[in-house]
Amino acid sequence: MEDIIRVENLSYSYDGKPAVDRISFSIKRGEILGFLGPNGAGKTTTLKLLSGLLPLQEGKIFMLGIDISRNRKECQAKIGVTFEEKNLYEDMTAEENLKFFAALFGKRKLDPRPLLERVGLKPGNKNRVQTYSKGMKQRLMIARALVNDPEILLLDEPTDGLDPISARAIREVILTEKRRGVSVFLTTHDMMEADILSDRVAFINEGRIVALDTPDNLKHKYGKRIVKVRYFKEGELTEEDLSLEEKETPRRIESIMRTYGVFDMHTEEATLEDIFIRFTGRRLEG
Ligand code: ATP
Repeated sequence: MEDIIRVENLSYSYDGKPAVDRISFSIKRGEILGFLGPNGAGKTTTLKLLSGLLPLQEGKIFMLGIDISRNRKECQAKIGVTFEEKNLYEDMTAEENLKFFAALFGKRKLDPRPLLERVGLKPGNKNRVQTYSKGMKQRLMIARALVNDPEILLLDEPTDGLDPISARAIREVILTEKRRGVSVFLTTHDMMEADILSDRVAFINEGRIVALDTPDNLKHKYGKRIVKVRYFKEGELTEEDLSLEEKETPRRIESIMRTYGVFDMHTEEATLEDIFIRFTGRRLEG
């Protein structure tokens, strides 16, 4: 299958200090790649390079086979971007915002209503954007990114700081676009977000990709499966974590059952955060 985005050996430094360090990856049509890493890992810098907002220093980026360093404008025409800063016009209505951005793309006759419906906002709302909730603004940002019918969406922390209901609504919008065949690059420091949305996840730490695979493969290859056993010992509920990879585990469970009787028992899968810590020695937050 054709690579919609291809990144080869990309590096970027601010005043000689590397922020992105020789990363390579590709994204297929209709695929979501989650870029998961803590603050300062280099996620936004990568997104800015992909969107053509920062000039290339080292490495190559191809969008639908087009070299961004040779034809930035042509690449940008295929892309929709949202950044963490909400760059909407607060004094305008949602429809005015969309018309304004469409005009920047040379689309003077855009009907904003279907776009609003695509992101679950009601057309015909005469309120100014400044009265919108964070979740509504984020939907509008995505609608704005869709104004030019992009084949690629670049989304910076799309659900960060949103309440769970808005976050879920935004995820639905992203998944709908994926089903339409849009390729999505999204950054996040939230492992749940990466896990739920991504076809593949790249772990990024100190400017480098340290792992890249489907969430399931990462969990199976690198995660330790644990069985949590709870039993009453001398009247107290006692908990024991046993690794399913240990040869001794079945015997230990048998012995607990014989000696104390099991209260309950369940298996726990490693989370992406557990695996991230195994790779980098650091947590995603803080
Ligand atoms: P965050 O979630 O905090 O935005 P991030 O993973 O997106 O984190 P980047 O914003 O890409 O990380 O930052 C990567 C590194 O580059 C950090 O060390 C950051 O301090 C540095 N950096 C980012 N922007 C600039 C800039 N304009 N000038 C100098 N250094 C910068």
